[in-house]
Amino acid sequence: MLFVNATQVVTCAGPPRARVGAEMQDCGVLTKAAVAVNGERIESVGSRAALERAHEDATIIDCGGGVLTPGLVDSHTHAIFGRARYEEQERRAAGADYMEIARQGGGIHASVRDLRARDADELLALARPRLERLASYGTTTVEVKSGYGLSVEDELKILRVIRRLTEELTMRIVPTWLGAHEIPKEARATAATRASYVKMLREEMLPLVTNEHLAIFADVFCEPGVFTIEETRELLTAARVAGLKLKLHADELAPSGGAELAAELLATSADHLAAISAGGIRALASSGTVATLLPGTMLFLGKGTRPPARALLDAGAAVALATDFNPGTSPTPNLPFILTLGVSELHMSVAETVLAATVNGAAALGLANETGQLAPGFSADLALFEIEDIRELPYWYADRRCKRTWVRGKACHSSDLPIT
Ligand SMILES: [Zn+2]
Repeated sequence: MLFVNATQVVTCAGPPRARVGAEMQDCGVLTKAAVAVNGERIESVGSRAALERAHEDATIIDCGGGVLTPGLVDSHTHAIFGRARYEEQERRAAGADYMEIARQGGGIHASVRDLRARDADELLALARPRLERLASYGTTTVEVKSGYGLSVEDELKILRVIRRLTEELTMRIVPTWLGAHEIPKEARATAATRASYVKMLREEMLPLVTNEHLAIFADVFCEPGVFTIEETRELLTAARVAGLKLKLHADELAPSGGAELAAELLATSADHLAAISAGGIRALASSGTVATLLPGTMLFLGKGTRPPARALLDAGAAVALATDFNPGTSPTPNLPFILTLGVSELHMSVAETVLAATVNGAAALGLANETGQLAPGFSADLALFEIEDIRELPYWYADRRCKRTWVRGKACHSSDLPIT
């Protein structure tokens, strides 16, 4: 296949690792360029005239004057859930805080109760159109976490649903085990019941997850009132020994040392970070851990705080952007909108946001040598947007400009087709 007639080809080409510092200012914008794809891989990127001569018998994909980019990478979602929790938005607007909503039966525990009552087929039928909706905004790789089961049976049910989606959908899906999303209601009574839940995660659930190869990553919600630094260290150390890569929900609401722990454990990413400390920023900047920022969550919750993207970038940390797609705090499938927040609220340049949702998103999933750039040898994961300049991607905010995507050289989303 030869992709021609794009006003811009945005390659994001460069070293196959997270970009930092000055590297974030250049996302590789080419004009009069074409992309040659052979099977599942990108063969070459270069001048249209030269590539047309070299590939006379190629199937031509006419980009219609749009902008061609690497398929976007959404490296943090909780896409497997039952019903949406729309009623909480209005309660928050009326002044209810998280604890009050939880007391009224809302919050994560509401999603847990709801998910446990559904079977796998039902969860699959709910998740499938949601992931297709994410794809319709240009996302070709998505991380999906478990975490609304909080029991052996229900967490395995979710991870097996994710596996079926991986087999059924064209988009690339990376599964994460988040059995430590919250302490379930039935284990909250005493310190002993709480400790026995952590022990069960480590000794019972983790081996079942790894025996069935149901997850690439383990993640823990490390936050005061949820899992402590010590519990997080214990769980993630066991997960690493069992062969999983590591992620942390860290420093979302209070600076508790989550970012420092992520660096210490050589975690692939530390996510949220809206309340990261100066020491946490230094720790991430001097580590290989990607700082994954989720500004949509703070916006949707109506909070004034934003993750300190500028401080992280200026300190030399690797920054990724993701949706945090979930039913409670960030129900958006629209990754380009998160780029808008990156520019308008986090003071990032357009190139920084584009690299944060491609190369660095891929790095946050351990896939920096596989996807996230249009360069020879990389997976043929592409997105075509109905714009003429990459700066329009965050500009037309909350709009859907994605026309088509391809994953491993195969057509994935097309705006000519119905979404669900
Ligand atoms: Zn999350």
